[in-house]
Amino acid sequence: MTLPKRYLITSALPYANGLKHVGHLAGAYIPADIYARYLRAQKREVVFVCGSDEHGTAIPIQATKEGTTPRAIIDKYHEAMRQDFEDLGMSFDIYHRTSDPLHHETAQEFFTYLNDRNELEVKETEQYYDEEANSFLADRYIKGTCPNCGSDRAFGDQCETCGRTLSPDELINPVSTLSGKTPVKRKTSHWYLPLGKHENFLRKWILEQHRDDWRPTVVGQCKSWIEGGLQSRAVTRDLDWGIKVPLPEGAGKVLYVWFDAPIGYISATRQWALDHKKDWKPYWYEKDTKLVHFIGKDNIVFHCIIFPLMLKLHGNILPENVPANEFLNLEGDKMSTSRNWKLDMRDYINDFVKTENGGTQCVDMLRYYLTQIAPETKDSEFMWKGFQDAVNSELVSIFGNFINRTWVLMHKLCGGKVPRLHEEILNETDKALITDIQLAKIKIEGLLEEYKFREALFEVIDLSRKGNQYLQKNEPWILAKKISPNRPGEEVSAADLPAQEAAQKRIDNTMHLCLQLSANLAILVNPFLPFTARKMMHMMKVVDKMLDWENAGNIKLLSVGYSLREPQLLFRKIEDSETEAQIEKLKSGLKKMEEPKNPAPQAGGEEIKKETPAKPGIQFDDFAKIDLKVGTIVAAEKVEKADKLLKLSVDLGTETRTIVSGIALHFQPEEIVGRQVTVVTNLAPRKMRGIESNGMILMAEDKAGKLHFIQPGTAIDPGSSVS
Ligand SMILES: [Zn+2]
Repeated sequence: MTLPKRYLITSALPYANGLKHVGHLAGAYIPADIYARYLRAQKREVVFVCGSDEHGTAIPIQATKEGTTPRAIIDKYHEAMRQDFEDLGMSFDIYHRTSDPLHHETAQEFFTYLNDRNELEVKETEQYYDEEANSFLADRYIKGTCPNCGSDRAFGDQCETCGRTLSPDELINPVSTLSGKTPVKRKTSHWYLPLGKHENFLRKWILEQHRDDWRPTVVGQCKSWIEGGLQSRAVTRDLDWGIKVPLPEGAGKVLYVWFDAPIGYISATRQWALDHKKDWKPYWYEKDTKLVHFIGKDNIVFHCIIFPLMLKLHGNILPENVPANEFLNLEGDKMSTSRNWKLDMRDYINDFVKTENGGTQCVDMLRYYLTQIAPETKDSEFMWKGFQDAVNSELVSIFGNFINRTWVLMHKLCGGKVPRLHEEILNETDKALITDIQLAKIKIEGLLEEYKFREALFEVIDLSRKGNQYLQKNEPWILAKKISPNRPGEEVSAADLPAQEAAQKRIDNTMHLCLQLSANLAILVNPFLPFTARKMMHMMKVVDKMLDWENAGNIKLLSVGYSLREPQLLFRKIEDSETEAQIEKLKSGLKKMEEPKNPAPQAGGEEIKKETPAKPGIQFDDFAKIDLKVGTIVAAEKVEKADKLLKLSVDLGTETRTIVSGIALHFQPEEIVGRQVTVVTNLAPRKMRGIESNGMILMAEDKAGKLHFIQPGTAIDPGSSVS
């Protein structure tokens, strides 16, 4: 396989309407950054672009909310997001913005190109118009009832409750969010991208050509889109805020944000090329460029179907891969800005990075945890306890510990210099370690090329774990005792000399290989934890060049006799008090949001109310798969170190089951013994805090957040089935 000549890496353009949380970071930014850093270490030609998405109705809506202008909003959030990304080590070659004139020009040129070649359709339609506000209503400005789930939190583009993509016509009882009045229909014409016309191309390109190399979740989503029927999609709309349609008949209309935003990758590349006196065109036109889009799963359709089609019609190259990530939840719940259940990048930076014992080690600690739990194939969960465990028992106890022990021993036993390697006495453990180093490079490289970042990172840590085991097996500190006996002044007899020489040689070999392994670890960890790699380089007194990927697997990186610096601790421990404080902050933030100070509805704004989302409909057969029975709680006790969990023994007539239930904040163990409950009895067993839970108790939550058991009106036999 020939390597691409150049790489163009993109991270989804974040909307400039608010701060972004660590779920975003884990989805579209850290993986892209790891990949870009890896490719740079491979000395491949890489441009990594990102920027703020500054159009769309979310911006004027946020401006209304904050009582300011759209321009002030984008300036504020563009700068805030740029700074946060920088603080967390994102190595974009450019962080651009779509309000830049160069982007407007690029997007208009793109539109004109397609329009001139009749690739767009013009259609006259009737659209909702607010007579009081004298304005056509963008999808986001129309609210109503969802035809899918019945929620009243549905907008003209999407239902906030079930997530279904909608068009304004599908809404039941539409209302303008500008005036609160029912809108009327008026005629207007718009340009459309006829997706259906290109179905064959999309089918072939995605479902055949990329069936095996794209992530199954990505191909699956594309498949259901294509099979659901590809509708023409409006490219323009009636709105003030955005990129003007560059035609006289387009007066008062702007390009739809879904159309202009991905073109932002092109304008960012153009701006980067201008800044560096390079040619941008090969990046978007030459077949030997590898284009990779990193996104979250909510962006799949745009990056896999719509934008590639736009690129094809415009004569550009297509993406080679679109490694979309699933979502990251937080402490057992979906991350949500409207409910304030989230961890903003900015909050992490303030609470960890910009503190006295913080700094870049805390950046790498977050990067580590987010990569370790990366939602590559399914949704995953950020837990503060998990963060603490990852840092304390992996980064500190394994990786950091190996490097620290190596440096301390090298200073103590080898005078702070790289000792010789005595090849003639290499033993099996030495040889095995050398093989491990070489194999690790190959494995990690293969995984990175396939976008399997969490597995790749696991291999890095595993290699440092092997280093610890190697030190433990060879015990250079014991060998040292044979050379300088504990009792001072004791004469060394001539007969001991060969044994002492042999011990010294073993110490040399052990420390030599541990140091070469450390140098290798710096190279291998660099794409993931760049600040740690730099700290290690400082300790080794080496220059950036050593981090070139081609050096990995080499066990002659540090020259014999070269003196190294004193050790520095790479990571600090995370204390219980820190994670407890974060959980407390999260919970109290949620509470604050649930007691809104100003309940007046805002224009298109998100309501600050916790609602139970209605779920999509199911068939009776799906329901019939659930085995529900009435049970009686016969014993209950608290689970140690888990303030939410109770361990219950539930009598189900023919058996007594252990069930762990997250109700400890609502009930005392003694008050629920004897209560009847409804149990899902055929749920797969799940281990919680070391206890296997065999079933689930059904609970109802009232408006105040209080839990209630679902129980029969009168006591009945345990084991009675519920249907
Ligand atoms: Zn819905």
